[in-house]
Amino acid sequence: MEELRRGATLADIQRYVAELETQRGFADQTAVQKCLLMGEEMGELFKAVRKREGLPIDCEAGALPIADELADLIIYLCAVANRYGVDLEEAFRAKERVNMARNWMVAPAPAS
Ligand SMILES: [Mg+2]
Repeated sequence: MEELRRGATLADIQRYVAELETQRGFADQTAVQKCLLMGEEMGELFKAVRKREGLPIDCEAGALPIADELADLIIYLCAVANRYGVDLEEAFRAKERVNMARNWMVAPAPAS
């Protein structure tokens, strides 16, 4: 399997993830399995952020760099999207059109 080229599109990354899953024997895992694994990666990201922010973490538990955990999440995001035939770029564009039309405001702080 060739290395993903620099400047790859989101569609390229989705195809790459499909290929790596086949090559590494993960292609038969279900969407539910992928979602659970993505949840684990989210926890790893949170731990990495806690470590980076100087919050207490289990000294025995390692924490990988934030970039590594974000990359793991991209892999699982693509894996789930691929199982449902979702074009992530198109999904992002469509959802962003919805978000752009929303009225974003900061809620006032509750009175203490
Ligand atoms: Mg990880």
